Amino acid sequence: MTQPAAPQHIVTRFAPSPTGRLHVGHGWSALLAMDMARAAGGTLRLRIEDIDGTRSRPEHVAGIIEDLRWLGVEWDGEIAFQSQRLDSYDAALDRLRAMGLLYPCFCTRADIQASLTAPHGPEGALYPGTCRGLDAAESARRIAVGDAHAWRIDMAQAAERVGELRWASLSFPEEKQGASTGLARTESVQADPLAHGDVVLARKDAPASYHLSCTLDDAAMGVTHVLRGDDLRGATDIHRLIQALLDLPSPAYVHHPLLVGPDGRRLAKRDGSIALADLRARGVAPDVLAADLRAGRFPIGIRLARA
Ligand code: GLU
Repeated sequence: MTQPAAPQHIVTRFAPSPTGRLHVGHGWSALLAMDMARAAGGTLRLRIEDIDGTRSRPEHVAGIIEDLRWLGVEWDGEIAFQSQRLDSYDAALDRLRAMGLLYPCFCTRADIQASLTAPHGPEGALYPGTCRGLDAAESARRIAVGDAHAWRIDMAQAAERVGELRWASLSFPEEKQGASTGLARTESVQADPLAHGDVVLARKDAPASYHLSCTLDDAAMGVTHVLRGDDLRGATDIHRLIQALLDLPSPAYVHHPLLVGPDGRRLAKRDGSIALADLRARGVAPDVLAADLRAGRFPIGIRLARA
């Protein structure tokens, strides 16, 4: 007799980078991720993406935790820190290198910008592939003398290796402005990693890029549902490719609209006025703010980008 399939235990996560204090949009995203988990009796994990040595600050880690607690976001288990997972990133890079899919890239930002013929992808100029054809002995020599380098993926080869890929997209119910209900509509999206070119998987100044560390960590933490902003929809194509190359499970993805300020610009950490810490300092009651955010009522002229 076949047993009915056990209902899936949902694991969501909120994964801030400690490069500043959280703003209202982060708070909203964290509440959505928590509600989505709670509505299904699932788990919310908190992951601090702190491997960007030039921009991450320990004081922001403490600030983020304080802001989330203040807003009533409760995560399960220990907080995960990317800075404690560097060995696993190295191991993945070794595997990809052994597949012949990575190459060192010595280009500076200025070099890349100077290549005016570079085609453009969703996030601007695509890497023109300058270092892809470098002689292996020459690359080894430059690495040996300490030339700063990143590691890029040869996207054409990688895409050929894995063939056609799809990822599961759960629609964001804008009319409800909440992720706890109405997420049943799943769409299978064809991934287009080639549109992003030879992206960086290990940075010059960080042991892994966002794409690599995020994909590995979501798998290691058993994340079943990734909820994040629309700005990262394109990144999902790259993450799906990494999953296929490294035999990792692929979670479902929910991309929520971004919030814009009264000036129509995306909320950013630079706008101190909409930091959660600022609202707290002004005496805003966290439970009222959380209820407002859940109902799609955003303070001080903030609105959904698509609305
Ligand atoms: N650390 C990333 C950010 O703050 C998280 C992206 C993600 O949720 O995948 O934008």
